[in-house]
Amino acid sequence: MKKINWGDYTTNEMKVFMKKDPVVIIPVGAYEQHGPHLAMNTDTIIAESICKCAVENSQSPCVAVPCIWVGISEHHMKFCGSLTLKHSTMSALLYDILDSLARSGVRKVLAVNSHGGNMIPLNEALTKASVAYGGTFALLTYWNLISKEIASLRKSEFGGISHACEMETALQLYLNYQNVRQDRLPQANNVKGSSFWSTEMFASNKISMYRSYDRLAPQGHIGDPQKATVEFGEKIFKLVVKKTEKVIEAIWKEVLLDENY
Ligand SMILES: [Zn+2]
Repeated sequence: MKKINWGDYTTNEMKVFMKKDPVVIIPVGAYEQHGPHLAMNTDTIIAESICKCAVENSQSPCVAVPCIWVGISEHHMKFCGSLTLKHSTMSALLYDILDSLARSGVRKVLAVNSHGGNMIPLNEALTKASVAYGGTFALLTYWNLISKEIASLRKSEFGGISHACEMETALQLYLNYQNVRQDRLPQANNVKGSSFWSTEMFASNKISMYRSYDRLAPQGHIGDPQKATVEFGEKIFKLVVKKTEKVIEAIWKEVLLDENY
């Protein structure tokens, strides 16, 4: 039977598996408030689920390590229950994992991230590992994979997909139905911003700015969770998994994907 998790191998089995030059998948999530209707582990569940399904389905040799479950959530710390790492901690943590993987012979890594705040320290550690060891140490943030398709799939207007929003609520309805407080779905809080800067997940911002969430979203969410459906969650999840499989294959075969991946 195919093994999904790094931890399920013995040392001798791993030595044999390394001969295939596998891609190691590292899910990265966050533990932070997600409004009155979603749980703290929302991002971590999304990252873990994408990685599990993509590794299960992949035709290329690959394996997943456990999720880095706490992320960079300083902007949510005014809300009870949110946890955060410092940038330097996350970068050092990921680098130490990458360094250990490299010492077992790993030269192909894909970090699968589900939280915007994590990108800077993740990129820092992945770049450092790439300089030290060569090979491919790549970062994928899942919603970037569906930026083309989302326009025809979403119901909410611009500003309606950001945090604990139509998309995240739909993904939780599909992946973790019993844990969505459907009787507490809040009204839309669409922080549109402008064409220059917006909190919308699919905005092409020209600048970035730090904003604490208690200023933007008193209830904790930005977007329109009431537009979420299980069907939308299933569609985008399956699309993301399929595309993640293609990214894994491209990294393993050392080719670049084109526009139509
Ligand atoms: Zn989230």
